[in-house]
Order: sequence, then C-alpha cells, then structure tokens
Amino acid sequence: MRFYQLQRPAPSTPRHWSGSLSAEHVWRLPGVECPTCHETWSGEFTHPSVDLSSLSERDLLVEPRVEAHAEYARLASHVQPFLPSGLPPEPGMRFGPLNGTAHGIFGPLSTRYGWEVLITQEALRHLQAVGIRGLVPVRAELQGLDAGVVLYELELPLRGLLHRDAVLTGPKCPTCGWDEVRISPEPWLEGDALPHDVDLFRPRNGSTYTFVNEHFVEAIEALGPSDVTFREAGVVPASRTGSIH
Ligand SMILES: [Zn+2]
Repeated sequence: MRFYQLQRPAPSTPRHWSGSLSAEHVWRLPGVECPTCHETWSGEFTHPSVDLSSLSERDLLVEPRVEAHAEYARLASHVQPFLPSGLPPEPGMRFGPLNGTAHGIFGPLSTRYGWEVLITQEALRHLQAVGIRGLVPVRAELQGLDAGVVLYELELPLRGLLHRDAVLTGPKCPTCGWDEVRISPEPWLEGDALPHDVDLFRPRNGSTYTFVNEHFVEAIEALGPSDVTFREAGVVPASRTGSIH
C-alpha cells in the first residue's frame, strides 16, 4: 500500500478551479500565555464535528485571542467533555463547521492548508460509494456558492505516526503542553503504526499533516483534476535508524 501526503499546490502552479474561501470554524479555544515556559502560542488543530452550541461558555470561544493560562485552562476544562476520549484540548483548537463566504467554482477536493480538506457533495458521494473508509464529513456553512453547490470539510481521523527520525521534539512544558517540534520538510511514516481501518488520516505526532493511501488517491483522481497535490511518503519500520531522504 502506498501513502501520500496531501498538500496544497505550490503558488506558481496553475489552478484548475477558481474556488476560494473566506471562512473560519465557529468556535476556538484561545491561545495561551504560559507562566511556566513563557511561550505564547496557539495551535492549528481542527475538530469540525465537535458541536459546542450547548456549552454556556460558547460566546467566549468565538473571538481569536490569547488568555492567561488560568482562564485558558478554565475554558479548556469546559470543552474537554465534548472531545473524543483521549484527545486533550490544546490552545487555539477549533471546533464546529467552517462558517463564512465562498467564491468561484470548486474542484472535487481542495485545501487552504495541509490540515483542511474540502470536498464537493458529488465527490463525497463517489468516495462513499466506492467504500473509502474514515470519511467524517461536516457541511461547511458558506454564503456565495452557486445554488445547489454544497461543500463539506472532512474531519481527519488521528491515526499513525510520522517516523521518529522525521520529528525532533524538545521537552514538553508541564503547564501548557508546549514543546518545540521540528519536522522534516518531507516527513515519512512509521511502518509499524500505519492505520489499516481508514484511507485518510492525520498522524498523532503531526496533526497539521494529512495523509491518504492509494485507494483514496485513485478514487478522487477518477473524478478529474483537483487543486491538491499528493506527495508519496516513505514508510520505514520504527526500528530502522537514519533518514531515507
Ligand atoms: Zn508552558
């Protein structure tokens, strides 16, 4: 089985489609100013299927901002019960559907960032029909699309690992969880941790990276061109030391 990193095309690459978005997820945890490590930071982790509309603090989870650690921790404790078990809250974590405006025409698959995957309704139906696994579509709330056009964001299951030799990690802050992470520009995957139950995923140690397997690529490419690129990623057993790049 081959695996690919899904990326947006280089800026110099001609586009097939005119679609563009100006949209954000409905809710987000604030960034944090940490009294222990003195970092001020906000991550990019998105979890669009999490619905915080019943949370009394929801209005405090709209405006992007940075809070002192105590207030961040208070808000994070309210959000925690809404997250899938085992997923810790993180500063800047975003929830709910994309909300905003869209212009132009979208191809089957598109992405603004490596961690955001948008799919048209027709393409989603095709992937479902051919049995692509791990699809968690969340309908984006977008003004400006042509009548009848619907876009979904695909929530990416957390599975697998970037290979340990592709990731350099510093010590973790015990208060806010900050750690300095450096990831190879073209990371490869740990062969002993590959997911076998889904066809798309984000690695547990690289949540801003999106990977798909050859079944996913074949299924989406059957629908014609999309403005995404698929970079084949190496797969190396965890025990092997050294870099393949
Ligand atoms: Zn800290």
